[in-house]
Parts: sequence; structure tokens; C-alpha cells
Amino acid sequence: METTFGVIKPDAVAAGKIGEIIKIIEKNGFKIVGLRMERLSLEKAQKFYEVHKARPFYNDLTKYMSSGPIVALALEKEGAVKAWRQVMGATNPAEAEEGTIRKLYGENIERNAVHGSDALETAKAELAFFFP
Ligand code: UDP
Ligand code: MG
Repeated sequence: METTFGVIKPDAVAAGKIGEIIKIIEKNGFKIVGLRMERLSLEKAQKFYEVHKARPFYNDLTKYMSSGPIVALALEKEGAVKAWRQVMGATNPAEAEEGTIRKLYGENIERNAVHGSDALETAKAELAFFFP
């Protein structure tokens, strides 16, 4: 059994999509083993996305991620890391497959509704960061 880390981002929380996204998560066989609503400080958002520090979108991204409450999730399932990435869909909602959360609820490549860890090691670090 594997646990991955997910976030319902500020755009989806503001749009009232927490319930619908959690429904998709549960329908896809994930067990929610951690859940917390939180308003990130700019500093915490910057630390979380530190890996993207050199990217041109870093400033906007961290401002956006600290612009309103998020929901942090710990999701358990066999092969959870890969499975959650599939349910989320591609980073750019315009390129995401039909039925994925980003296709359904993402506004654009930045405001794309959800986050998911990209590897098991990343998941461990991100889970420890949000659920110490
Ligand atoms: N992002 C952005 N512009 C880009 C690429 C990414 O604003 O050109 C944002 C987007 O919110 C994305 C996050 O930065 O989810 C992290 O980017 P990453 O490449 O890790 O995509 P993800 O793993 O979230 O699919
Ligand atoms: Mg990523």
C-alpha cells in the first residue's frame, strides 16, 4: 500500500469544488487518511514549491497558492502516486484527458485545481511537510 500527497488548490476551493473532487477521489478507490484545510503563508508556499524556484512562473504560482485556503490530503491506495497523477490529469487543463479533475475544474495551466506528488520520495517529503 502506498500513500501520496494531494492538494485541492485555492481556485477549486473558491469555486466550491471540494465535495466533487473528494467524491472523485473516493470513487477511484483512494482511502483518505489525512485531510486538513489550511491557508498557506507566502513563505510556506515558497518552501513547498522550492524545486521550481528558478522557473518563470514561481512568483505567480506561490502568490496564487497563498491567495486562499487549500485542502491538504493524504491518499492511500496501491500505486497511489501514479494513480493520483492519472486522476488529476495533465498540468495544463487544456491538454488533460476527459474526466480528469484538471479537465473538469482547472481554469488554466497555473490555476489547475489540484496538486499531486510526482514520485514516491516526493510524496514522503510532501506528506511530512503538511502532516508532521
Ligand atoms: N505551473 C504554472 N505554469 C507552468 C507550469 C506549471 O503556473 O508553465 C504551476 C501549476 O500550478 C503546476 C505547478 O506550477 O501545477 C507545478 O508545476 P509542475 O510542472 O510540477 O506540474 P504538476 O506536477 O503540478 O503537474
Ligand atoms: Mg509537480
